[in-house]
Amino acid sequence: MYDVLIIGAGIAGATFATKISKYAKTLLIEAQDYKKEIPIRTNVFPEHNHPFIKEEIDWDDNGIFPCLHTKSNYMSDQFNGVIDSTEFGEPLGNICYTENLLRELINQFEQQGGTFNSNERISKINRHSDYLELINNKGESYNTKLLALATGSRGFDLQQSLGFDIPDHYTGALIHLFGNEDKINENLEYNYVFHINPKISTNGPFYFNKGKERIATGFLGKKNESKQEILDKLDRILKNYKHIQPIVDGLKYDLKTAVIGEISKHPIKSFSRDRVLVLGEAAGIVTAFFYEGMLSGVACADIATNTLKPLLEKNCIFSQLELQKYDKEVKRILFSYFKNGNSLEYLIYNEGSHVKSLWRLYTELLNENKLARKYIYEAYINHDLSKHNTSNDRYVGEKWFGKLSTLSKITLSPKFFKAMLL
Ligand SMILES: Cc1cc2nc3c(=O)[nH]c(=O)nc-3n(C[C@H](O)[C@H](O)[C@H](O)COP(=O)(O)OP(=O)(O)OC[C@H]3O[C@@H](n4cnc5c(N)ncnc54)[C@H](O)[C@@H]3O)c2cc1C
Repeated sequence: MYDVLIIGAGIAGATFATKISKYAKTLLIEAQDYKKEIPIRTNVFPEHNHPFIKEEIDWDDNGIFPCLHTKSNYMSDQFNGVIDSTEFGEPLGNICYTENLLRELINQFEQQGGTFNSNERISKINRHSDYLELINNKGESYNTKLLALATGSRGFDLQQSLGFDIPDHYTGALIHLFGNEDKINENLEYNYVFHINPKISTNGPFYFNKGKERIATGFLGKKNESKQEILDKLDRILKNYKHIQPIVDGLKYDLKTAVIGEISKHPIKSFSRDRVLVLGEAAGIVTAFFYEGMLSGVACADIATNTLKPLLEKNCIFSQLELQKYDKEVKRILFSYFKNGNSLEYLIYNEGSHVKSLWRLYTELLNENKLARKYIYEAYINHDLSKHNTSNDRYVGEKWFGKLSTLSKITLSPKFFKAMLL
């Protein structure tokens, strides 16, 4: 019998395993074969993630964080809205080689006595009165007092079988481009590029995350686009889309390595039930506009550990009532920050004819307004997101609205008004 069993060794599950195994007999199960290879990921890892993982990970570890994140470019067809940390102080955060971060977390977990089973998929969960029984694809079973679902967008069947809702999910494409460090720096000045073009997608950005000798790029597909259509579009964009040609120029990539997968957002109503917690993207805890999910992975892991620690000491039964603190804390710590993403999503991710010009004005605003840039910078480096200042977001929204033509102001004022209330 395990105290805690975690399904999924992504950022949420691996962080939680490392943290909770200090207090509980823990088993971590991952469907992918991590012993063979942990798939590479190059992610933006803002400074505001740091407090949730500072005890486990050395912020100066170059294997995990090969470069500082100093420059973000919110890019339109006409403007570069650049947030350059050197204008204000410390870096925006780090760029993360997530496969190395996961490896380090799992190593620590095993050193602390945790058991890690990779290449093993949980296919069924049976509830008993005082424990849960999990059955894997080989027919083996495990018993646990508490279960954590950290299955991202790949475990919805299990989630539903336990009575949880599932979040909205969208299909996206991801590929890595490779070159030597000099070439990468010559092609791309920014650590992170976030570009909106409604012709590419009305659901999300085309983005670049720059590592040392590799760049991750991709986009989210439109509704109803098939995986093949998304892949074909990625091919066309990388070959022909003029805005990004200088970035792609001379870098190597193999379209066969592109990953087409789901990403979820819009948090489900409840993240806990008797003896079960849902962590990270599985619960849809991903910011709605920028699709930040590493934050919720580390935050959910930290909050779940703080919730469970006293319950483990008191030998509690992990009832929904006892676990409710987890839901409350996730909402308290993350959701004021999430409001900004909800508003931007409402204004930009739709089929409206105004989207392109609105995004152009937003990037122009960042280009010319230092205070708007400073407020975005402050959100990146904020070590207490529960105190995120929503009036700063409102300031940016008002200045953005102020840039509209008189006619657009009349047409779009109800939308801006509603966005402020989300
Ligand atoms: C293309 C792309 C780029 C992104 N870039 C960024 C970024 O730069 N910064 C950022 O903050 N966020 C980014 N995100 C979002 C972020 O990466 C994810 O939200 C986050 O990694 C999700 O972590 P997770 O641990 O919740 O889920 P996952 O990483 O999806 O992990 C879930 C794990 O559970 C395993 N699993 C599922 N079902 C089972 C089962 N039945 N049995 C066993 N194992 C199972 C899966 O194999 C998987 O490894 C990006 C997302 C995408 C799609």
